[in-house]
Amino acid sequence: MSAIADNLQAVRNRIAQAARAAGRPADSISLLAVSKTKPLADVLAAAAAGQTDFGENYVQEGVDKLLASAAGNSLTWHFIGPLQSNKTRLVAEHFDWVHSVDRLKIAERLSAQRPLTLPPLNVCVQVNVSGEASKSGCAPAEAAALCQAVARLPGLRLRGLMAIPEPTDDIAAQRLPFRQLRGIFEQLQRTGLALDTLSMGMSHDLEAAIAEGATLVRIGTAIFGERNYA
Ligand SMILES: *Cc1c(COP(=O)(O)O)cnc(C)c1O
Repeated sequence: MSAIADNLQAVRNRIAQAARAAGRPADSISLLAVSKTKPLADVLAAAAAGQTDFGENYVQEGVDKLLASAAGNSLTWHFIGPLQSNKTRLVAEHFDWVHSVDRLKIAERLSAQRPLTLPPLNVCVQVNVSGEASKSGCAPAEAAALCQAVARLPGLRLRGLMAIPEPTDDIAAQRLPFRQLRGIFEQLQRTGLALDTLSMGMSHDLEAAIAEGATLVRIGTAIFGERNYA
């Protein structure tokens, strides 16, 4: 087995163990392999080991990789990085999911630019929960109004919420922002939105995220190794 195949299996085992500890079925959590900065060969190695869903943060890098991987593969591509309005068209035309919608203007552009020949673009709204590491994400108090508006846009299918909490090694501290996001998620479900995706948890905190109800974890380093941005 390749190192990537071994790493993937180790991550699947961590997910299964965290699910068991939380009393949840392991198949209630899907694995997104975050391949940003990594070469196409790494994506193909993971795909050969059964991985179907890949996440990218940079629009052009992601589009190049997804086009190059398309021959002989049927992969699902998620855009998870900050999205500027001048880049929405490429995302709308090429990706299957966007996890990082944090304002209505971006959602409206994705809606207008999604080709009618493609299925709706799956969307998560990114929420800046307490201790969010990135500057992106809507304020928790704005999440409901943004989700209601996004849910009405044609060409988009609102699936749920995403967050990127500040890294910390303390599992109890890791759980707090995940619990906050799940609280917002459940509140939105009670208002009638059919949401099924809670996108939270990365290499260092996937156990805490699963304990708090994550349905999708986004894992880069634990699968592909450390990133080199040089
Ligand atoms: C890079 C990134 C990940 C993966 O992070 P790792 O710590 O390498 O697992 C997950 N989500 C987002 C939004 C990212 O930018």
